[in-house]
Amino acid sequence: MPFGLSMVGPVIYTFGTPEQKAKFLPRILSGDDWWCQGYSEPGAGSDLASLRTKAERDGDHYVVNGQKTWTTMAQHADWGFFLVRTNPDVKQQEGISFLLIDMKTPGIEVRPIITLGGEHEVNEVFLDNVRVPIENRVYEEDKGWTCAKFLLAHERTGIAGVAGSKRGIEKIKEIATTEMDGDKPLLSNPFFRRKVAELEMDLTALEYTELRTLAGEAAGKGPGPESSVLKIKGSEIQQRITELALEAAGHYGAPYFRGFGEGDNEHPIGPDWAHRTAPSYFNVRKTTIYGGSNEVQRGIIAKMVLGL
Ligand SMILES: Cc1cc2nc3c(=O)[nH]c(=O)nc-3n(C[C@H](O)[C@H](O)[C@H](O)COP(=O)(O)OP(=O)(O)OC[C@H]3O[C@@H](n4cnc5c(N)ncnc54)[C@H](O)[C@@H]3O)c2cc1C
Repeated sequence: MPFGLSMVGPVIYTFGTPEQKAKFLPRILSGDDWWCQGYSEPGAGSDLASLRTKAERDGDHYVVNGQKTWTTMAQHADWGFFLVRTNPDVKQQEGISFLLIDMKTPGIEVRPIITLGGEHEVNEVFLDNVRVPIENRVYEEDKGWTCAKFLLAHERTGIAGVAGSKRGIEKIKEIATTEMDGDKPLLSNPFFRRKVAELEMDLTALEYTELRTLAGEAAGKGPGPESSVLKIKGSEIQQRITELALEAAGHYGAPYFRGFGEGDNEHPIGPDWAHRTAPSYFNVRKTTIYGGSNEVQRGIIAKMVLGL
């Protein structure tokens, strides 16, 4: 995601103080600052409100202790937006605050989690007596859940990823025009062609749904539960694209592990584009999990849209 997880911008724009807006927004817009998202914890994923990382006041600072996990690109982040518990004695959602933390603050340790595709994309973040100025809290103390939900609606709208999926489908069509299935281009295979056409239709429907959401936002109506629809459909389309690319690559897509057979001049075979298909396939399994799993999004739609 460009500039790290910069969806904190709308939160600062909507809930931040004039000083916070002046300090952070220009550098988010220019991409000078990279951001990471400190929401999830071991034991607090779908049930996010049960988070336990705590922030206690000490003069004009909070002292933060706890652990976050799955923190995307924290190894590159200049800043992180963190959900912390500031009041353990009230209903879970009512004791959470939203803090902006400089990732160079003493007491922060970022440890890598290596994913199935061998990539370093996510991390564990440990916070040990991390001192955060109170002026870095967005919105009121204990009211961070309002910011958290607002941010997640924007995050889910962004996960729809229409532009990226359009590029993905174009690439598949380009490949299927040159790759042969027997003596004909793969794209003339009716089964393959049908899958491409279905993807294009679903993506067009998603694009118009996203445009309706954006038009609503431009008219001052922030994204609501429709962001869950965008998230589900967008993430499923992204996964189908990687599945189709892997199908087009055939045996050339068999995973090639760098370092395996080193010294015996073994190289991956087949065209260059095919070497990324298996790692992409594995990597994109994440999209139905992050930003709130698709199962949980279906629950939100059932409750908020269908009234079940
Ligand atoms: C690649 C990747 C990047 C991520 N990046 C970040 C990040 O930058 N910052 C951050 O804070 N978090 C991040 N996450 C964490 C992500 O938001 C959580 O993984 C997600 O919310 C699910 O939580 P969990 O992993 O604890 O699973 P759990 O909540 O333990 O869920 C386990 C399973 O149970 C199902 N389930 C749980 N509750 C329900 C329910 N009520 N109804 C139906 N099914 C349910 C889930 O769908 C899932 O299949 C990332 C995750 C991944 C995989």
